[in-house]
Amino acid sequence: MVARTDQTTDPDLQEQLLQARRGTAFFARKLNELTDAGLDADSLLPGWTRRHIVSHIGYNARAIARLVEWAATGIETPMYPSPEARDHEITFGATLSPTALRNLFDHSAVHLNVEWRDLPADAWHHKVRTIQGRVVPATETVWMRTREVWIHAVDLNSGATFHDIPTPVLEHLLHDITGAWKTRGTDHGLLITTTSTDLTLGDTTTDNPTVITGSLPAVAQWAAGRGHTCVTATQDGTPLAEVPAAPKWI
Ligand code: ZN
Repeated sequence: MVARTDQTTDPDLQEQLLQARRGTAFFARKLNELTDAGLDADSLLPGWTRRHIVSHIGYNARAIARLVEWAATGIETPMYPSPEARDHEITFGATLSPTALRNLFDHSAVHLNVEWRDLPADAWHHKVRTIQGRVVPATETVWMRTREVWIHAVDLNSGATFHDIPTPVLEHLLHDITGAWKTRGTDHGLLITTTSTDLTLGDTTTDNPTVITGSLPAVAQWAAGRGHTCVTATQDGTPLAEVPAAPKWI
């Protein structure tokens, strides 16, 4: 008999699953607000229409579901055969009919949710490998999906903003991004502070760093490479004429 509730009883993980499910519901709402013709319009991502975003989010759910299946069975099933195959799949998906595109999103989201729900409690710690080559426990798939649905709901360019993203998700995102910079050594001289929370991240060791400040949503938006609206940059207390672009993170 198939379970109707999550197998995991870990409260932290259950909370994370909730954020992923809320993000998926939010993305679904933004997608449903768009007409079929509206799918053809530009997204906020250069070179991508809204169709590309929906296609990517659909195939992303399938790719993450493969990692969850890997954790469940021990049989290696990578996210994608190759980065090229991933890109090709997105391009192909963007050409689907509006109905097929919406079905791709709906069905893949349901499938992923079932894989999460039915993953036995102990299998959440099994290791899988992401497309970037990181070896992570299956629990990480929840965050991987969470950031995708929330950020790309904004990228749909249909009215959602970073202010719609829950605070715990924004905080996790900022830690994730600044952690990636640190790993790559690209955060040198860059200090991030938020006015709405007391977060200080980035390079805390350099004297006289460039300080990026704004509300948590604004700073997270900037850090995710999505413009510098409502963000200021200062050095030595003096505002800089131009806010530098954030280093790449993904
Ligand atoms: Zn993405």
